[in-house]
Amino acid sequence: MRKTGICTKCSGNQLLHIGAVADTGESDTVMRPMYLAMLFTGHGFFGDEKTRRAGKLTAVVCKGCGFTELYVLDPESIAPDGKYVTEISGPKSSTPHR
Ligand SMILES: [Zn+2]
Repeated sequence: MRKTGICTKCSGNQLLHIGAVADTGESDTVMRPMYLAMLFTGHGFFGDEKTRRAGKLTAVVCKGCGFTELYVLDPESIAPDGKYVTEISGPKSSTPHR
């Protein structure tokens, strides 16, 4: 949809690219970009879990039907961490994926 400019659900051609997906905390006063993954980075001195975020989200929205596709802006920033992120390798394909 991002590359074709055509909605895969309704075939509409009026799309919006969203460069940063909005995320808010408990109160709605602070807005920040949303990330896909929480990565485990180790344990702190008191055994508490240390994490960081990765994979800033972007989106493409169809103005006709509202269908939305999410994309990670920087997928290389997400690495298997042994806890929350694991890698899955499928069979090799000769055709590009959408
Ligand atoms: Zn649509």
